[in-house]
Amino acid sequence: VKNYLSQIEQNAHLNAFNEVFGQEALLRARDLDIRLKQGKVGKLAGMVIGIKDNICYKDHKVSASSKILSGFESIYSATIVERLLAEDAIIIGRCNCDEFAMGASNESSYYGPVKNYADQTKVAGGSSGGSAVAVQANMCLAAIGTDTGGSVRQPASFCGVVGLKPTYGRVSRHGLIAYASSFDQAGPITRSVEDAALLLEVMAGADEYDSTTAHKPVPSYSADLQKSTGKKKIAYLQESLSSPGVDEQVKSVLIQTIDKLRAEGHTVKPIAFEYLDYLVPAYYILVTAEASSNLARFDGVHYGYRSKSANDLASTYKRSRSEGFGKEVKRRIMLGTFVLSAGYYDAYYAKAQKVRRLIQEKTKAIFAEYDFILMPTAPEPAFNIGKEEVDPVVSYLADIFTVQASLTGVPAISLPVGNNNKGLPLGLQLLAKHFDEQELLNFSKYFL
Ligand code: GLN
Repeated sequence: VKNYLSQIEQNAHLNAFNEVFGQEALLRARDLDIRLKQGKVGKLAGMVIGIKDNICYKDHKVSASSKILSGFESIYSATIVERLLAEDAIIIGRCNCDEFAMGASNESSYYGPVKNYADQTKVAGGSSGGSAVAVQANMCLAAIGTDTGGSVRQPASFCGVVGLKPTYGRVSRHGLIAYASSFDQAGPITRSVEDAALLLEVMAGADEYDSTTAHKPVPSYSADLQKSTGKKKIAYLQESLSSPGVDEQVKSVLIQTIDKLRAEGHTVKPIAFEYLDYLVPAYYILVTAEASSNLARFDGVHYGYRSKSANDLASTYKRSRSEGFGKEVKRRIMLGTFVLSAGYYDAYYAKAQKVRRLIQEKTKAIFAEYDFILMPTAPEPAFNIGKEEVDPVVSYLADIFTVQASLTGVPAISLPVGNNNKGLPLGLQLLAKHFDEQELLNFSKYFL
């Protein structure tokens, strides 16, 4: 803990943590030390982790990196936090993120952007950018992020670490600050596949507080983790190699990987995915709709920030929300409210639901034939801080490869596969069938 705390101090300029629980982490470590001598400790004893600042931890502040939650303290812990603590993890602090997890660069945080440890002029990725940099710069052993449309995987790829989004329903959402409830999943960001397996096994499983959790038994992912031996069938999207929007070095690392897999006897085939152009539009219609509803609760009355100039109920709502939410969050609340409004519901929201179904069916058909889908995690490596300001739609399009797993609920992992010629990490992503995390993790070992 002391070592991590000193790394956090030395790297404070990266802005990875919104708050560090230093004293508390030290005390927990001391207590664990005593129990270790008595031989009674959990599976995660000694594992120092950071949690994204949209995950509730009883009696600790939680902000979703938004002004509107300033001063708010959780009155209960997320189920995943309870499970991590029950296995003796040490939580060292809450990690910076995009405001309400909306973004792909960690620049929409009220607490400022997170800087990439590989190059401080570059973004960390998002929305779990603080979690990814905390692991990248050795400020903790692992971190927990949340992934609605890529927020664990994309920052992991920008920071050269492992990021896993479990199957929707594998991990409880109770105690996460909701962004889009039919997409949100918490997942580990780690340096190794082993740690990802261990954390998933602790966090996963049914939870009476989240009716969307699956009742399937949780495998012993870590004990059964082994480099997979059988020959696999892997599909990759043709467009990820032909599209001009994909960085040349990202393409070449994908080609090298495909060649290597083929040389080792795996079947790797290109597939056409005719809905590629609809992934991002369908995703943004659905998540903004869900977000506009989820964020209605932040009204200046129940939680956190209340405008000083409010003088009645209506102005409390209006002014607290106007002053408390940042630009990107407001943009999405308006977009979501629009697509749900009576006159436009069928044209946008209902249509997007149908498109989601088509994408799910097509993905299922691919998995009837293949074990995995391989693709880049992001079209390009970490970009310059400040670039996003130019055009939000450009940054939405950068989610092209991550949202398929989110729209369909299948598990996906981003694996670090090297650096580009400027020393920036590159990541590749593997998608597997629903609840096939064990296979996914086993095959991931092949890459690391
Ligand atoms: N970039 C995507 C978005 O802004 C993903 C965010 C996330 O997964 N939380 O919606």
